Amino acid sequence: MAVLIKQLTVPVVDKDPDQHITQALVQEYGLKPSDIHGFRIKKKSLDARRKRRIVYHYQVEAKIANEQHLLNHHSSTVTPIPDAKLYDPLEGLPLKGKSMKRKPIIIGTGPAGIFAAHVLAEAGQQSLVIERGEPVEDRLRTVNRLRRTGEFSERSNYCFGEGGAGTFSDGKLTCGRNHPLIKYLFQEWVRFGAPEEILYDAHPHIGTDFLMVIAKRMRDYLKQAGTEFRFNTIFKGFRPGKSSRYEVLLDGGEVLETDHLIIAIGHSARDTYQLLLDQGLAIGPKPFAIGARFEHPQEVIDQIQFGSCSLLPAAEYKLAARAGERGIWTFCMCPGGQLLPTNAQAEHLAINGMSYHARNSGFANAAVVVNINREDFFKGHVLDGMRFQESIERKAFQAGGGNYFTPAQRLGDFLKGRASKGELKSTYKPGVTPARLDKVLPDFVVEALQGALFEYNKKMRGYISHEAIVAGVETKTSSPIVMMRDKSLQSQSHPGIFPTGEGAGFAGGIVSAALDGLKVGRAVLEDAVSESFLE
Ligand code: FAD
Repeated sequence: MAVLIKQLTVPVVDKDPDQHITQALVQEYGLKPSDIHGFRIKKKSLDARRKRRIVYHYQVEAKIANEQHLLNHHSSTVTPIPDAKLYDPLEGLPLKGKSMKRKPIIIGTGPAGIFAAHVLAEAGQQSLVIERGEPVEDRLRTVNRLRRTGEFSERSNYCFGEGGAGTFSDGKLTCGRNHPLIKYLFQEWVRFGAPEEILYDAHPHIGTDFLMVIAKRMRDYLKQAGTEFRFNTIFKGFRPGKSSRYEVLLDGGEVLETDHLIIAIGHSARDTYQLLLDQGLAIGPKPFAIGARFEHPQEVIDQIQFGSCSLLPAAEYKLAARAGERGIWTFCMCPGGQLLPTNAQAEHLAINGMSYHARNSGFANAAVVVNINREDFFKGHVLDGMRFQESIERKAFQAGGGNYFTPAQRLGDFLKGRASKGELKSTYKPGVTPARLDKVLPDFVVEALQGALFEYNKKMRGYISHEAIVAGVETKTSSPIVMMRDKSLQSQSHPGIFPTGEGAGFAGGIVSAALDGLKVGRAVLEDAVSESFLE
């Protein structure tokens, strides 16, 4: 048996935290170093409430001599760990030796699509994965060209391509971690190359450098298991099959047959939304949020959060405010990150943030967004929300100069409604154009953001710093539609079609998209078993 030690306080040190954890075990629990047979960090969180004594709180799983003695004397902070049963995504499925008559087809290689393919592969089933963008190695060259020269590709960009929208991201894994499915996901990410600390860090993040490696390793693993990948290939819709449930149409005119179609297209594939709607898939409108990105020199945020401690990682923050019925909150904060163009259409502009694992760009950015209710955009058409996003992105593109530069203003100038003078320092590439962002966003969004800024500055004094800018726009925090599903996760209108992930309205980030993909992979297997799509 091992024990969970729930409370260990360790000073902030630049190296060898293990030695300090051992010391804390000895001092706080009266152990001898030889009693400690081994430990594994379960959770690590930073406590910066007292700037003069910033510490880490650790939870560790430990093997200790005479554990019962420890349990008896520290029952409030030490608990026994029952033998863990790992989640088995295939439990109870009578599949052994059987294969599906026709390969499931998965549209999209984002976290939802790839984890659906993963479950199928683990069950010994082959699937075909269609991705409009490039494999990650080529995609990296294409997005670097965009940042260097402003040359934009509608086929492969920061939203489209292997790994989906999350490949060039901070890779923040926001979720509770006690659910067995989530534990399974985190273990799989580590298996394919994520840093092990995501298993215990209170605010885990992977970073773009590791996310690219994971995407490639997952592809290699799945290919070995018989999964087929087609990149640079656009899904163009479906129609009833003659001998199968569906025929799937690809650009170039190819037609494929399947009984199970998984739609994991993300929320930037607006052309695909339109064609799915035209083909009668059950789709409804959904509220979402829009706003802009605020970017500060990292040292401004570090100083506000930590004071002068230099051993700490780049500081994070999370803020919220209200303006009447509207909420305004920070979202997807990237310490040590960079701003990126994340529109997926030419002559549109939307931005977002990413970071490398080291989070060392010297800048901190966060989306600050306002909730958009149905009455703000809905005029009777299911895709009105999408059109609303597009109209703002087109205005941002024009305001930036029509070359994928982002319009930007100093925070103070945004508050006062005036243009900014002088150089605006930013990580955004291809470039920044000083412009009236307060004229690009709808008035009610600008007013809500201005009100929130005052509130944020009260909570984090110095937040409205001269060097801080607002850039944007941030229009794609979540999907403006939902593809309605039944209890078996199939489309309400089309049995055999499984909408999943963020684009379908069932996720709002990497973890929730991957989780939904896992569930849909399992749902496809359950359907195959119950409807006898096996041979
Ligand atoms: P996506 O990842 O969007 O994948 C959909 C895939 O489908 C794409 O690869 C696309 O090319 C493909 N596709 C679309 N249409 C077609 C078609 N017709 N034919 C073929 N292929 C098609 N979330 C977090 O939790 N933490 C973060 O730190 C974070 N940072 C982010 C940073 C950036 C820059 C961006 C853009 C997003 C970030 N997100 C983050 C959000 C996260 O990436 C998404 O929530 C997640 O990727 C959604 O997964 P998905 O599989 O549903 O869709």
